[in-house]
Amino acid sequence: MSYLCAVGSWINRSYQSDIVNLEEYSTTDVAATNADCALLPVGSTEQHGPHAPLGTDTLTAKAVAEEGAASSDSTVIVAPAVPVGIAKEHRAFDGTLWTRPEIFRAYIRDIVNSLASHNCEHVIVVNGHGGNTNALKEVTATIVREDPVYATAFTWFDEIDEHRSQMGHAGSIETALLLETYPQLVSTDRIEAAAVDASDQWGEWQGKVNLAVDSDEFTENGVVGDPREASKSLGAELLRLAGESLCELIDAVVHRSAAPRTG
Ligand SMILES: [Zn+2]
Repeated sequence: MSYLCAVGSWINRSYQSDIVNLEEYSTTDVAATNADCALLPVGSTEQHGPHAPLGTDTLTAKAVAEEGAASSDSTVIVAPAVPVGIAKEHRAFDGTLWTRPEIFRAYIRDIVNSLASHNCEHVIVVNGHGGNTNALKEVTATIVREDPVYATAFTWFDEIDEHRSQMGHAGSIETALLLETYPQLVSTDRIEAAAVDASDQWGEWQGKVNLAVDSDEFTENGVVGDPREASKSLGAELLRLAGESLCELIDAVVHRSAAPRTG
């Protein structure tokens, strides 16, 4: 961990740099910004049990992107969050939205290329939803090979050290990060019931093969894991860990060549 990457979190989230939040900036102000890198938060609108909002994956991706941007000494744009991803596996639960992988990949590629057209040649997709991971790996590889921009994907819950093993769905990890970042959106009075009806693992396994395709096959209320183990202090720790990792990734990415690799 670099010293600079630690500063944002350690001083009570009083950040050393302003976040260039694209939604809040005017075209005039953003033109005057010489950004080194852009972060594109990508989430999902999908069930997160009875106690957590449908936008959990989008809100947490955005919170981690803002933490990483604010902790960095580079000038970092935070683009508007993409709220719908690859989530057909949750379609049995009300409110879930999804798009097809080919549409998702093309949409992400267009957004990354539009950032590049404004001289932002390094883009990190900050992901909050497991179902998006494969498509993001594929599309960022295509972008690096074929487009005049360097792009890679960062999934925040892969960057939380020993807490990673507790990652379920609307369980302790996501609920904790929400308690730290969007506490008003967590129905804490439903956490007990959410835990009682939850599954303790994602899927139905035979050896290393997951036989289940959709989440309603193995979880009655959509929850995997135990949201009773969530706390605001755990959420703060997760935000710090993911934010520091992202800050370090920004430092690495800004030095990558943006030239296409096709020849
Ligand atoms: Zn989630």
